[in-house]
Amino acid sequence: TQASKIVKEFGLIHISTGDMFRAAISNMTELGVLAKSFIDKGELVPDEVTNGIVKERLSQEDIKLKGFLLDGYPRTIEQAIALDNTLSDLGLQLDAVINIDVDPECLLERLSGRIIHKITGETYHKVFNPPLEYNEEDYYQREDDKPETVKRRLDVNIAQGEPILQHYSKINLVKNIDGNQEIDKVFED
Ligand code: AMP
Repeated sequence: TQASKIVKEFGLIHISTGDMFRAAISNMTELGVLAKSFIDKGELVPDEVTNGIVKERLSQEDIKLKGFLLDGYPRTIEQAIALDNTLSDLGLQLDAVINIDVDPECLLERLSGRIIHKITGETYHKVFNPPLEYNEEDYYQREDDKPETVKRRLDVNIAQGEPILQHYSKINLVKNIDGNQEIDKVFED
């Protein structure tokens, strides 16, 4: 939600590894089949695969022109190190690492009510961020937003997240945002 708002405000290119994997899954590509086997269990897709698709996207012409927002990447310290190398190879740099902290209970509530528009891929929430017009058949719920999978995803994210924040704190890039607030307040911060 916040990534979409940020790219809109600043005219950036949105690079969401999760969106890229979901697109590959719905197109039934080789990448999609591989990604699905991990995503459905709440596990991370292997680093080589994920690093590869990000590097490929960052190498395209429009990135230098518009700037970019990485959403859901890097998710492991190994990805962060690969990203450092990719950026220096391509002559790019990060301006900030935005860490939006959300309490686990709050996150569970958000993920369980999350719905995605089938055509646009835009994310909404049944209660906190409902679409203007809600036709149930136009939306789907993510398979990995089921409570059992969410729990595994949270455990993975918490375990992998801390070293990444330490890595970027050393070079003063981290901005901590309180994510337990309303959407507009989080965006304002
Ligand atoms: P997301 O939409 O960012 O929540 O991503 C959905 C799922 O895609 C994650 O639970 C992972 O299985 C996979 N995924 C997304 N981004 C990454 C990443 N940077 N590294 C590994 N797996 C990822």
